[in-house]
Amino acid sequence: MASTVERQLVVFDFDWSMADQDSDRWIFEVLAPDLRRKMKNLKKDIQWTDLVAQTLRELHGRGVTQEQIEGALRKMPFHPAMARGVTNLKAKSSPKTTFLCLSNANIVFITTILKAQGLETVFEEIVTNPAEWDPSGLLKLRRRVDPNGPQHQCKVGCSPNMCKGEELEAFLERHHLAFDRVIYVGDGSNDLCPVLRLRSQDMVLCRRHRALEKLIGSYEEEGRLKCQVRYWAGAWEVEEIFNQL
Ligand SMILES: [Mg+2]
Ligand SMILES: [Zn+2]
Repeated sequence: MASTVERQLVVFDFDWSMADQDSDRWIFEVLAPDLRRKMKNLKKDIQWTDLVAQTLRELHGRGVTQEQIEGALRKMPFHPAMARGVTNLKAKSSPKTTFLCLSNANIVFITTILKAQGLETVFEEIVTNPAEWDPSGLLKLRRRVDPNGPQHQCKVGCSPNMCKGEELEAFLERHHLAFDRVIYVGDGSNDLCPVLRLRSQDMVLCRRHRALEKLIGSYEEEGRLKCQVRYWAGAWEVEEIFNQL
């Protein structure tokens, strides 16, 4: 199969897919566990991105600094085999691999973590929620899809802040690149929408024991999934698959 693939696109979800933790939850677990508990209690009532933005304001109100948040992100679990697998795949000239990140976290968390792992140049694009530090050290986070503007049209169940399926299709159009194969690495329920849009020559690397596995299972049984499915639990298995591409 590898001999017929000249250009491929690897799409990564970030939390629990490329990284071995959830960045939105991790910083509060490290810096203010009571706020982590509060988020868990409010999760059903407040849209997730809004809830993280609100909790970041609360954290800032307690005097937690930008340096402390960045420090927590830099030590977030990230499997060395994932860093190695991605780096080796990117270095290969055949097939040529482009990397795209589609994440419901935010640009500051992702770029801080990638930099700490020496992976800051891996992605062609990082499509996620916008965020920036204000001069006082507050991380200001917003939804990618502005709640006051037109909303995305997704019917599969993506969160209002972003439809990963629409974002994947927009990326493919934007780049005018015909990829012989798309490989999607994901674990969460919001990864289902892009996975349903993959073709028969494409592949999902689905993490075991998380929401996507259960969702994919029923679609697969009903024959509604076009792409190939490979399962993994540890990052070393993603590296193993990457080495065979
Ligand atoms: Mg995830
Ligand atoms: Zn969607």
